[in-house]
Amino acid sequence: MRAAVVVAHDKPLVVTEVPVPTPGPTQALVQLITSGVCHTDLHAARGDWPVAPKSDLIPGHEGYGRVVAVGDQVTELQVGDLVGNAWLWSACGTCQYCRTGWETLCPDQENGGYSVDGSFGEYMLVEERFAARIPDGADPLEVAPILCAGVTVYKGLKMTDVKPGQWVTISGIGGLGHIAVQYARAMGMRVAAVDVDPAKLDLARRHGAEVTVDASVDDPGEVIQRETGGTHGVLVTAVHPRAFGQALAVTRRGATIVFNGLPPGDFPANIFDIVLRAITIRGSIVGTRQDMEEALDFYARGAIHPTVSPATIDDINDVFERMERGQIDGRIVLKF
Ligand code: NAD
Ligand code: ZN
Ligand code: ZN
Repeated sequence: MRAAVVVAHDKPLVVTEVPVPTPGPTQALVQLITSGVCHTDLHAARGDWPVAPKSDLIPGHEGYGRVVAVGDQVTELQVGDLVGNAWLWSACGTCQYCRTGWETLCPDQENGGYSVDGSFGEYMLVEERFAARIPDGADPLEVAPILCAGVTVYKGLKMTDVKPGQWVTISGIGGLGHIAVQYARAMGMRVAAVDVDPAKLDLARRHGAEVTVDASVDDPGEVIQRETGGTHGVLVTAVHPRAFGQALAVTRRGATIVFNGLPPGDFPANIFDIVLRAITIRGSIVGTRQDMEEALDFYARGAIHPTVSPATIDDINDVFERMERGQIDGRIVLKF
């Protein structure tokens, strides 16, 4: 099969022939139809994070396709089923985190397109218990980004504790952020959006943001305090550390800030400001299988329409270059 392989962190991906993987007893072999390209795939290819990906990695964790073979212990997946892979490719099922609804924190988890090969190839493997079930009638291009961007921001928004009618700031209106605007609206929130590119802010307005700030021109704290009185929650999906520090300035007292973005780096934060205004800052990593089912259900009911443009696996290095320069509107989705 053809796949895009990371051969070295300082070299382009190589699109080449590799063997079709063989499913283990509890796994299924999936023929890919589409796969979204997440900024995490770029971090993986560049080796941006402290934990290294597997060698000769095939990235991709927004893969959507059809089951073509199953292992001999698989009981709930059948040839022909439409499924997706995910960042949470598997978890142990028995540790304290798995037992208490926090399988996303399982220390023994495998990650699709990171610790195991992902969806930038013609075939991929999924673990039966962790494959996402794709709702009937899903659009192959639109549904792919739900599998990471969608579930991640849906969970992240829940973690902000923002209630219907209250304000949330979405910082970073890329693949994750433009979908976050839509989930926030569907969850009854009012949205302020921050990015450094006017085209992204247009996208945010089209998806229902009421206030937008170009942080390369204006001070997000000043504008958002003036327009909203400070937001009750913030979801940071931006890929620059500066956005993380700026998040504090847009908050109302008692607000919760949730970090989804994962750029390498640190940000300054004032202790007095956090304590006296009782601000909560928390990280949030993808979502559980339950979050995934709920995120897909929002999509199935027509509440979410990712802005997508198609590409092929041969375009992958070009897609990464555009992503690095912040030149993608919404999500690029590879078609197989
Ligand atoms: P993307 O490249 O599609 O979007 C990033 C956006 O950030 C762009 O719109 C860019 O203009 C904007 N941006 C850059 N600098 C900014 C600044 N200073 N202020 C505001 N906005 C700024 O990336 P993506 O696919 O949406 O992923 C975003 C981040 O989220 C990545 O770091 C990715 O690894 C991470 N991620 C985390 C999770 C999780 O579970 N926590 C899941 C998926 C992705
Ligand atoms: Zn992702
Ligand atoms: Zn576990």
